[in-house]
Amino acid sequence: MRYLVAFILIYLVLGCSKEEPPQKDKSAIEDPQQQFEWKLVTSWPKNFPGLGTAPEKFASLVERMSSDRLKIKVFGAGQLVPAFEVFDAVSQGISEMGHGASYYWTGKAEETVFFTSVPFGLNAQEINGWLHYGGGLALWRELYEPFNLIPFAGGNTGVQMAGWFNREINSMEDLKGLKMRIPGLGGEVITRAGGTSVTMPGNELYTSMQTGVIDATEWVGPYNDLALGFHQVAKYYYYPGWHEPGAMLEFIVNTDAFERLPDDLQAIVEVATRAVNQDMLDEYTAKNNQALSELIQKHGVKVRKLPEPVLSELSKLSNEVIKEISSRNDLSSRIAESVADFKEHSMAYHFISEEAYYEARRVLSD
Ligand code: CA
Repeated sequence: MRYLVAFILIYLVLGCSKEEPPQKDKSAIEDPQQQFEWKLVTSWPKNFPGLGTAPEKFASLVERMSSDRLKIKVFGAGQLVPAFEVFDAVSQGISEMGHGASYYWTGKAEETVFFTSVPFGLNAQEINGWLHYGGGLALWRELYEPFNLIPFAGGNTGVQMAGWFNREINSMEDLKGLKMRIPGLGGEVITRAGGTSVTMPGNELYTSMQTGVIDATEWVGPYNDLALGFHQVAKYYYYPGWHEPGAMLEFIVNTDAFERLPDDLQAIVEVATRAVNQDMLDEYTAKNNQALSELIQKHGVKVRKLPEPVLSELSKLSNEVIKEISSRNDLSSRIAESVADFKEHSMAYHFISEEAYYEARRVLSD
């Protein structure tokens, strides 16, 4: 009887873990040395710093770890499918894998925004904690399951910048009539503030700013923004990135394709996504610092902080938007609740850890 109880407990603990990708019966796989060739479509220009090099690193890691049993060919935006068709392409099996950002797919399910970044939400460190040890990944997999997709964290840019503007933002009045490229919930907040939000891929932003199609744009942070040359077409560079405090990218895998892989190749895919997820944050941490000083010192960029009253109003509008999405259905309310709960506890601890340390370090270096 005791053994039976122990067996049931072990089964419950191991068998029901939702943190693992779904497993299927592998008895159908005849040759464990079978080779696989996958396509990986992305929402980024081919080899674009950080965002575009991450999937290349992933492909190279997987090939090396699997001794070429799983070969992955990476496509930039538009090479096989356009930037914003990555989700559909992988869902339909046109490509086995994709790399992008979940908030591009709000047209499929609004809750996808919770898995990139929520205004005034979790930062990179926190979203990784929530995802891998706070129940986030199980919710994300539940959300993507009807689309025949398995999501994995695919990198994080850290706290972004508020964006590039051709007018100063001194009060909420200055956001009225502003046409800004800003996706996700941040875009909805800008719309409610009286502006117009636009979503367009990175490779169209420079020209759109230059020709006045848009008045402002957010993109990522100094490292990526310098690469796109926004300092040539905008006057002011605002911070902080209230709308994307820890933008997480995603790898998505077609469920059927994943289930066709033997167990060891599935593990390799999983481990490589995890490695690339951390690697991107490391890269942005180092490169943003260098790029910011280049933007200021070499290009004379005017860096401005959004005034506190503006941030406060944006925060109120953000809470409104999040609350509305949270009440749409059972899954959205469970996701929103999980994020809110994690944020509350994280803020309490980070107040006396990360924040206290930043503050102490800053004061001491003054
Ligand atoms: Ca962004």
